[in-house]
Amino acid sequence: MTETRQKTLFVANRGEIALRIIRAGRRLGLRVACGFSEADRDASYLAAADDAICIGPAAASKSYLNIAAIISAARLLKADLIHPGYGFLSEKPEFAEAVESAGMTLVGPSADVMRRMGDKVEAKAAMLAAGVPCVPGSKGALPADPAGMRPIAEETGFPVILKAAGGGGGRGMRVVRRAEELAEAAMLTRQEAERFFGNAEIYLEKFLERPRHVEIQIMADAHGHAVWLGDRDCSMQRRHQKLIEEAPAPGIDRALVAEIGARCARSCVDIGYVGAGTFEFLYEDGQFYFIEMNTRIQVEHPVTEMVTGLDIVALQIEMACGKPLPFVQDDIVSAGHAIECRINAEDPETFAPSPGRVTALHLPGGPGVRVDTHMNSGGAVSAHYDSMIAKVIAHGADRTEALARARAAVAEMRVEGISTNLSLHRDLIAEPGFAAGGVSIHHLERLLKGKA
Ligand code: ADP
Repeated sequence: MTETRQKTLFVANRGEIALRIIRAGRRLGLRVACGFSEADRDASYLAAADDAICIGPAAASKSYLNIAAIISAARLLKADLIHPGYGFLSEKPEFAEAVESAGMTLVGPSADVMRRMGDKVEAKAAMLAAGVPCVPGSKGALPADPAGMRPIAEETGFPVILKAAGGGGGRGMRVVRRAEELAEAAMLTRQEAERFFGNAEIYLEKFLERPRHVEIQIMADAHGHAVWLGDRDCSMQRRHQKLIEEAPAPGIDRALVAEIGARCARSCVDIGYVGAGTFEFLYEDGQFYFIEMNTRIQVEHPVTEMVTGLDIVALQIEMACGKPLPFVQDDIVSAGHAIECRINAEDPETFAPSPGRVTALHLPGGPGVRVDTHMNSGGAVSAHYDSMIAKVIAHGADRTEALARARAAVAEMRVEGISTNLSLHRDLIAEPGFAAGGVSIHHLERLLKGKA
């Protein structure tokens, strides 16, 4: 009798997303092994995995970002697949290459596709070729000579934004409002780009004054099929960090979203994309403008799961295993509305991180409420990592019901022992601008400054 060996999935991440991946892997019948740093040794979510292994010291550079350590741990545990989650190594083509050369499969696109989409100049060119609308600006990278730059900026029209081709995390960008400031701003942005990203190439775009952040979730198999699973509005941000996300984006013509979604899906087939991905757009005055693609699972994926009823992480793993997409575009339905609040261990006013021990934790529940968290009473929030400790997701038949459930959920949740931004969420959910829907990416910062 032939028996197929149970595949092993290695989780190269921590916290809530590690637990989310462990759950998806086990649901699919895989054996799941999870890497952890010394700081996470006692984390309770590790017990949900079949196996756990230390991958290094607390400092992320020595553990969650340590390619050699992760590959050897995954080998030791006989992993077939490695899930990188988000952040850390999830968008590093070097990691994808290392996984491929070690004979394992990354849950994500190939190193080549990841590299191509990680270069924003190349990504924009690929999107334009696929008919995905982009922010008007330079065609490709800017010339090094300031004299050559000026006509491009003038043709685009001031204000413009200079951006690093290799940029990420909201760094390496500079707004230029007048032609006289262009040369110096370009020099500074180039220096930053070289220092932060090891790539001095920069490009230029029209600066949109009050856009919304709207993104499209896609899923693609290795057999030339891709679908889009819906849109999300992530405009409630502070310093480019998203705080509240929702699906679908309120007040946008559904036919337009469907057209953009279809183009995103088609472009995945064009570029040979496999797995879950997100196309990020700025949306202003009824127009979508592509800014970048994220080649990994995103923090905010649950809002799409709540309206579609799909398990995006499980699908992502199945795509990596070579399974065909189990549905076609017309099978995907979006029902109701979902809102996610990111609960961070931080001071609600100063935003200073608040590491420490959670002495008591009460999680909200009830119809339409989901909490994704790795935290428990007695659990530690480490100063070494991101401060997000939970995501509270509320679903309702419509946006009004989703808001009411989100409001009740953040009111009910209690975290003791550390500071959290729960009180900020309680205020924001009830804030008239957000409640009305369709705020710009500057709304939250203006509110915090008392200007909205
Ligand atoms: P990163 O990879 O660093 O996140 P993005 O290209 O996604 O860079 O841009 C990050 C943020 O910068 C956007 O969400 C938006 O707030 C702002 N931004 C980027 N491009 C523009 C633009 N053309 N006009 C206005 N704001 C922009």
